[in-house]
Amino acid sequence: MSHQASAPEHRTTTTERGSFAHARCTCGWSGPARRSRDKARTDAQEHASAG
Ligand SMILES: [Zn+2]
Repeated sequence: MSHQASAPEHRTTTTERGSFAHARCTCGWSGPARRSRDKARTDAQEHASAG
C-alpha cells in the first residue's frame, strides 16, 4: 500500500504586487500578472478546475 498523504491539491491565492495581481497555486503554478484582482481570481479558478 502506498503511504502518500499528499493528494494533488490546488489551493489558489492571489498576490498583489503594486497595481498588478496574479494568482498562485500550491502546486507551483502561477498565473500571469493582471491589472485586476478579479481576473487573477478567474485565472486561479480556471487553473483549479482544469486540474
Ligand atoms: Zn495548481
